[in-house]
Amino acid sequence: MTRDDPKSAPESATASSTDGGAQHPPESGEPPPELSPPEVGRRARTAAGFTSILATAKHGFAEMGVTRTFETLLAVNQKDGFDCPSCAWPDPDGERRTAEFCENGAKAVASEATRRRATPEFFAEHSIPDLLARSDHWLEEQGRIVHPMLRRAGADRYEPVTWEEAFALAARELSALPSPHEAAFYTSGRASNEAAFLYGLFVRMFGTNNLPDCSNMCHESSGLGLTETIGIGKATVKLEDFEHADAIFVIGQNPGTCHPRMLTELERAAKNGCKIVSVNPLAESGLIRFKNPQHPLSLLGRGTPLACLFLPVRVNGDVALFKGILKQLLEDDRASGGKVFEHEFIRSHTDGFDALVEDLDAEPWERLAVESGVSRDLMREAAELAGRAERAIYCWAMGITQHQNGVANVQSIVNLALSRGHIGRRGAGLCPVRGHSNVQGDRTVGIWEKMGPSFLSALGKEFGFEPPSAHGLDTVGTIQAMHAGRVKVFVALGGNFLSATPDTRYTAEALSQCRLTVQISTKLNRSHLVTGKQALILPCLGRSERDLQASGEQFVTVEDTTGVVHASRGVLPPASPELRSEPAIVAGLATATLGSKTSVDFGALVADYDRIRSHIEHVVPGFTQYNRRVRDRGGFYLPNGPREGRFTTPNGRARFTVHPIPRHDLHGGKLLLMTIRSHDQFNTTIYGEADRYRGISRGRRVLFVNQADLDERELSEGMLVDLVSHDGAERRRAEAFRLVPYSIPRGCAAAYFPETNVLVPVTRVAAGSNQPASKSIPITLERREPSTEARA
Ligand code: SF4
Repeated sequence: MTRDDPKSAPESATASSTDGGAQHPPESGEPPPELSPPEVGRRARTAAGFTSILATAKHGFAEMGVTRTFETLLAVNQKDGFDCPSCAWPDPDGERRTAEFCENGAKAVASEATRRRATPEFFAEHSIPDLLARSDHWLEEQGRIVHPMLRRAGADRYEPVTWEEAFALAARELSALPSPHEAAFYTSGRASNEAAFLYGLFVRMFGTNNLPDCSNMCHESSGLGLTETIGIGKATVKLEDFEHADAIFVIGQNPGTCHPRMLTELERAAKNGCKIVSVNPLAESGLIRFKNPQHPLSLLGRGTPLACLFLPVRVNGDVALFKGILKQLLEDDRASGGKVFEHEFIRSHTDGFDALVEDLDAEPWERLAVESGVSRDLMREAAELAGRAERAIYCWAMGITQHQNGVANVQSIVNLALSRGHIGRRGAGLCPVRGHSNVQGDRTVGIWEKMGPSFLSALGKEFGFEPPSAHGLDTVGTIQAMHAGRVKVFVALGGNFLSATPDTRYTAEALSQCRLTVQISTKLNRSHLVTGKQALILPCLGRSERDLQASGEQFVTVEDTTGVVHASRGVLPPASPELRSEPAIVAGLATATLGSKTSVDFGALVADYDRIRSHIEHVVPGFTQYNRRVRDRGGFYLPNGPREGRFTTPNGRARFTVHPIPRHDLHGGKLLLMTIRSHDQFNTTIYGEADRYRGISRGRRVLFVNQADLDERELSEGMLVDLVSHDGAERRRAEAFRLVPYSIPRGCAAAYFPETNVLVPVTRVAAGSNQPASKSIPITLERREPSTEARA
């Protein structure tokens, strides 16, 4: 079977051909076709600046009005305000600015604090087929969901339901399962520590560890790669380290769009003389020049140049690149009589260095240059910067992790840092940058399908039960189990599972097989539209809203990318009196499902979140005096051995590792596709249909590709092509993309997700971490019929 074989589409599917647009059936779960072609303009040469301020104001005013915009934004990331619900970039430990947010944080907040409402009347008016035909942006624009909604079996639309009926239905379906392992409970990175801990408790009391989460899709390779080599799966730096660094490597990451406040730290570092190296297939505007919107004078000038060196690595050329940099350092070390590598540190604190040296000696330079796409001269420059820097920070994101060799990529970076002793000293360290505000905290408090025996035993002791010990399903495992009919109830605590996951058609089929799907959500998304036979939407409070429980107003806590746990307190009245907090919804599900089978009073825990935090303190190491310390303004750091110079591996030593250079079969005109996001996008949330920094507007179906690759295929700018991915004999197809010549290495291409998720086979995952390999997909281009194209 090929995935673009019509026989594999749901029977009820009808083609939705619209003037050259895509023709996939709406039930496939893919975003619908675009009615007109995207426009391609000039790329921005500078990030942020006036345009960013204008975009922030325009978006905020449109969604919230002027007064509410100021009231809300001035509380974002303040010590007594609420945490930005977007990325996990840390806040300063000391004084904070009045406006402690970026353009994308403001968009996320405006999206949540919008005055628009998706009411029961809205759902009565719009059938699910009607909603499926709308774009992701249109769905996002409909505003906050204000009432629990139910899609009954066979119904073509949602209807309102009471909370009690909703909980009873979920409890009935869960209790009817022959085994608790036939349910899966997903968590998105928005959930607070309190909601996540309660959820993990409920799920384990129900009897399973089926706790897939969004971390399975973004930094699972970082967690494994780091734990194996340094003993902890998190960053080893603090925010203040950035101003003490001599060099910062930004690898497979686009901070201008994905973590914009990081540019402020990079700007400060650059002004201190720090050398910034950008390693990425695309030269992203955010790392070229930055005009800090916080500093009016900077807006008038040309901005601060950030990266002094750009390494245009091929998609998934990182193992070869880091070997090249290390090989150059090795040669320099030998030439200098051992003055480049930190030999004393290597001897005292690490294992495996000799094997690494042997591997580097065996790799010919030509191969390293060809496979990385980076010239030896550029590698030499990078080695010189790393070799000169006493303190260097290495940051990365999904450009590194979402490959079949994602763990090897992470460990290649670790090799470089260890060789120079760049861990455990001020101004130096490793920094996987997390994409969602509390994805790291959720994992810390127990959202993982593979939590270890010490956590499970502490949880069981605290609550007087025997948690299941068998590992549960991760995200990929859950999709496959749903598809095979082995998981029949799917619950999502936030997120947009369908659009975040790979293999869209397969995942849509998987969700459709379930007896019940439950989404705990603030706003409408595609996961509400491709559902099980029955579906519930349980609307919850957003971060920006006040959370009133029986003992009074509550706050929640979150952990940022550097391991700081801090409070988040909403300031706005809830969008509807019907909304419940995430902990309250979890407690409602738990109470209805577990009934007399548990002695835990979930209601009492929700009445006062301090009680939940006390339990976390007893179960999770590092949370001593949680309730007191989290009331300190700015919160507290969790313990981090490597940051303090102590590797927490089994033998207390860090490990160098050796990895083969990955091979890709790119015969037959194939390109290696990486999926990316636009500047008007946060994960799967589409705020608008432009990508200002890359010059794209009014649409998203574009393919960035090297002009020479177009010439070779006799294609040209603006033509419409289908992207066809190759997985053995199987073919997957994403239709109707405009070709945009771009500065990207030969043999590589880039396009936005979720539109291209359909091309990613669910089985194409990183070795060891099982993370979907969404950033190295072999594709060919098929030109669409000229007649179809002419109409587009
Ligand atoms: S950098 Fe991230 S956390 Fe900070 S305001 Fe921007 S989106 Fe929010």
